Amino acid sequence: MSYYMLVISYLQLLLNTVSKHVYLVSYFLQLIFRKIQLEKNSNFVNLLYRLIMTEPFYIATQIILLFGTLFLIIFLIYSVIEKEKNAIKKTIPLITIFAVLLLITSFGLMPKWIEINIVVLFLTGFSVIVIPFGNKPISYKTPSTQFDERDIMFSRAELKDGADKFENYYQRKPENKPKDNLFRKEPGLLSPDSKFYNPLYFNAAAATFSTVDLLQPFVKGEQAKQSANINISEVSNFIKKWTIKLGAVDVGFTLLQPHHIYSHTGRGKDYGKEVNLNHKFAIAFTVEMNHESFSYSPKGPVIMESAQQYLNAGTIAIQVAQFIRNLGFDARAHIDANYNLICAIVAQDAGLGTIGRMGLLLTPKLGPRVRIGVITTNMDVEINKNHIDSTTIQFCEICKKCAVNCPANAILFDSGKKEGNWQPWKINHEKCFTYWCKVGSDCGRCITVCPYAHPNNFIHNIIRWMIKQNSINRWLAVKLDDYFYGKKPSVLSVKNWMGL
Ligand code: SF4
Ligand code: SF4
Repeated sequence: MSYYMLVISYLQLLLNTVSKHVYLVSYFLQLIFRKIQLEKNSNFVNLLYRLIMTEPFYIATQIILLFGTLFLIIFLIYSVIEKEKNAIKKTIPLITIFAVLLLITSFGLMPKWIEINIVVLFLTGFSVIVIPFGNKPISYKTPSTQFDERDIMFSRAELKDGADKFENYYQRKPENKPKDNLFRKEPGLLSPDSKFYNPLYFNAAAATFSTVDLLQPFVKGEQAKQSANINISEVSNFIKKWTIKLGAVDVGFTLLQPHHIYSHTGRGKDYGKEVNLNHKFAIAFTVEMNHESFSYSPKGPVIMESAQQYLNAGTIAIQVAQFIRNLGFDARAHIDANYNLICAIVAQDAGLGTIGRMGLLLTPKLGPRVRIGVITTNMDVEINKNHIDSTTIQFCEICKKCAVNCPANAILFDSGKKEGNWQPWKINHEKCFTYWCKVGSDCGRCITVCPYAHPNNFIHNIIRWMIKQNSINRWLAVKLDDYFYGKKPSVLSVKNWMGL
């Protein structure tokens, strides 16, 4: 706590200095203006013009340093709010250097050749940042084969040794048995024997998952006998706006395709049955997972937040599905432990983001720090254009921060380009799940460290914009993220979480 108080005092002192400086500069300019005014009796525009003509590098250096200092102060304020200790430590010396240079310049003590260098450096850097290049569209291929839900880790974790399902599964997939034996040796998700067990956090998460279970009977239901006479564009727009009002960050619509849907059910009473989903459209949406909770990953707060957003996404999906049924069309909500489809692929095709190296959807505003909810229906909706963002994929090619920080080495360092086409990255799910069973939570370290996962605010959106502009910016963004947040960011201490 005292650390943050210290930073706040520094900020106060700094703002004081900068405001004094602004006053000093304006006073200085006024003096020059007055002097020129006495000489020439010109108007303001002429005076400014003359000043720029006579002292262009002095004025430009002042503006560059002043805006640079203010930008860094804003960054420092955001870092304090985001509790990013490393960024705070790195920004304070930078602000001090900028503020000192600003004072030196304003007193006319900066040699002219340095002023010229500052201006040339700034103009070159600015041009490189804003000019778009290296953003060619890429050829991207999503595998068209269907995936069997019985192969996902949650389904395999539910198999009980000695039971028919267990024997049948490993007869069909003997290659998975040695890998699965590894996670079976670990205590398990939310287990009291797991490494990061905390009775409060883990039982709170378990309570939230139990609440999600209460929603299961409502994923399907009877539709109204009469279909309402509705306008496709109007209802699509209404669903979009209402879903956002209910708490979603973004919403998209897509045609439901065979490769979205699991071939067989892997969980619940329909285990082993072929999935029979005859809907034509899918509505996908994202909800935000709290930034601070993820700073504690892989400890308790992360699984609490993860469970909470499964609940929020599930509630919204059930409301929207029921709304569509009230209009007289069939609809199904896909919620935690009861999905008929692969959410990330559906959401990507609905235009909500692009699948990144960690195998999760990277969204434009929050990166992977989202949960996805899906509703499928036979009601006509206006579909969105699928947009694979090549700049996201190119950024993942050079970034690799999730792979560097994964405690289970489950994320690969390979290229996403295979046999001439780009494809969604896949992670080693067995290694990842084994780690979850060891620590007791769903880890999320990869999500926390991803440069796209920073909060959706002015500062981080500048970097997101830069990444889209050109390939040099993408390289620069990786370096800046490593510099300010650390190549291997440290896990925040849970001590003061929620003011506990
Ligand atoms: S959740 Fe954790 S273990 Fe799994 S891939 Fe991400 S960082 Fe690795
Ligand atoms: S951490 Fe880097 S490489 Fe991994 S998904 Fe995020 S942007 Fe891509």
